[in-house]
Amino acid sequence: MKVLLATNNAHKADEIRNALDFPGWEFVTLAEAGVESDPDEDADTFLGNARIKAHAASVASGMAVLADDSGLEVDALSGAPGVWSARYAGEDGDDAANNAKLLSELADVPDEQRTARFVCTLVFVDASGAETVAEGAVEGRIGHEERGSEGFGYDPLFLPDEYGGALTFAEVPQAEKSSISHRGRALRQLKEKLSPRVLE
Ligand code: IMP
Repeated sequence: MKVLLATNNAHKADEIRNALDFPGWEFVTLAEAGVESDPDEDADTFLGNARIKAHAASVASGMAVLADDSGLEVDALSGAPGVWSARYAGEDGDDAANNAKLLSELADVPDEQRTARFVCTLVFVDASGAETVAEGAVEGRIGHEERGSEGFGYDPLFLPDEYGGALTFAEVPQAEKSSISHRGRALRQLKEKLSPRVLE
């Protein structure tokens, strides 16, 4: 079965392909499938935005679709950047600008108050339009400087609790990140939910 990934983010696509290894499933990104779908992500929850992306891509393609909406919630910023994670430094902002803004917003915040989590919601829509939802999160802290070159987004600033604050997500290999990441956890939950149907 061909499944359309409602994203053009290569890092997300890699993580999804490695985790959802059902026999006979093939994942294609929007660009690879030649499908244009770029709806306004104007919901105020990750689930709302994942649904918007999944259903828009499903209507545009008629294919089974998997959409991911994810982001970073920082406690000292009342949950920001949250659903605005990709656009924190503005519509044209990139990872470097987003990270610079986050560091500057937290400039006076001491270590013990720099707690944060990555959150991921996945929405799978099959060819008949039926939805399966899965969620995952990983707790950690925001560091004081960018470290590491793996991954993407806020990875160089995020210190997951699993490494006791010693390593950022950008300092661990992708496979190791997936074993504890928000997306890895959501993907394992989705795999469990879909397995009875796929393997029947
Ligand atoms: P989305 O593509 O609309 O879901 O936006 C997700 C944004 O959240 C990305 O652009 C990143 O800024 C951030 N983000 C989500 N997952 C990760 C991750 O695994 N590492 C680093 N940043 C992430």
